[in-house]
Amino acid sequence: MRLEFSAQLVEIDDCDTMKAIQVHQTGGPEVLKLEEIPDPRCGPAQVRIRVRATGVNPVETYLRSGNYPKIPPFPYTPGSDASGVIIEAGSDVSELAVGDRVYTSGSATGTYAEQAVCGPHQVHRLPESISFEEGAGVNIPYATAYRALFQRAHSVPGETVLIHGASGGVGVAATQLARSAGLKVIGTAGTERGRQLVSDQGAHYVIDHGKEGYLDTIRDLTGGRGVDVILEMLANVNLAKDLTALAMGGRVVVIGCRGSIEINPRDAMGRDAAILGMVLFNAPEQDLIRIHAALGAGLESGVLKPIVGRKFSLKDAHLAHQAVMEPGAHGKIVLIP
Ligand code: NAP
Repeated sequence: MRLEFSAQLVEIDDCDTMKAIQVHQTGGPEVLKLEEIPDPRCGPAQVRIRVRATGVNPVETYLRSGNYPKIPPFPYTPGSDASGVIIEAGSDVSELAVGDRVYTSGSATGTYAEQAVCGPHQVHRLPESISFEEGAGVNIPYATAYRALFQRAHSVPGETVLIHGASGGVGVAATQLARSAGLKVIGTAGTERGRQLVSDQGAHYVIDHGKEGYLDTIRDLTGGRGVDVILEMLANVNLAKDLTALAMGGRVVVIGCRGSIEINPRDAMGRDAAILGMVLFNAPEQDLIRIHAALGAGLESGVLKPIVGRKFSLKDAHLAHQAVMEPGAHGKIVLIP
């Protein structure tokens, strides 16, 4: 390729390119632009992946719109969750090799793209029994659900958990994890299709979080005792009522929250209850290693299996961002590059 700079001719190498979504400014879904950019470079301690599917998470819409504390420098490629095959491994990488099927938990270059470069700690083996589309739905949903259930709430077998918003990415993951760990699972969803999904994933009881007085049903289901743990996907709507649905010593984990809410702290006092916040990105490295070891075992044994609800091509990432914020969740939304 020959480029002309003020009468000076410069020779540069032709480089291979890939398609990727680029964000040049904050804004609505329309700021997600499909562009042709150079293939990402793989450092000695990194691997390069041919992405086969990418998970779409609500957090990517918050980042895109500027509604998040830390925004990446522009232009950036969104996304942390993908699945694919390693096509290059740096000279310092010993435990992964070209050809390995993997899912990612973060990336140096973003995953809304045909290729992504990751550090070795951001790459985890994907069993043959899990498709690439399913693999794209592992990281944020399952790691969040695991951390909420076991590292924040310290749930134990025999306890009852209310998964408040069980039809989406995190909720389905939490339902599978809680059921396989011996908890009594009550899941909620806003549509009949969503409730069927939650039931199919192993919830013992499924209720409609859009129905007036549905928390009374929870009290009835627990013989008036209340639930031990609540995983809350929409705390700004539900937290005040959640506190009244807890058993003695109960814990609410705030996973999702899109605004503020007034609560009566007495509802927590009277039950010795705890409100536990969490953001997956705060999890220390050691906890993440444990989480992915547990998820790997669950994926391998078949106990964990992401549910893919909708697929979009990479060029339609803007439609996927609209869809992930709409009601009527049904598992994961994935992009196919
Ligand atoms: P998602 O796939 O879009 O699912 C959203 C879930 O919220 C659906 O189950 C939906 O049910 C439910 N929901 C809607 N209205 C509700 C209500 N009034 N009460 C209870 N649940 C309600 O999203 P996701 O990936 O599962 O994430 C869920 C939330 O957690 C999002 O706000 C996300 O930003 C947040 N999140 C936080 C972390 C963290 O680290 N703290 C990590 C991952 C996700 P219907 O559609 O059936 O009504």
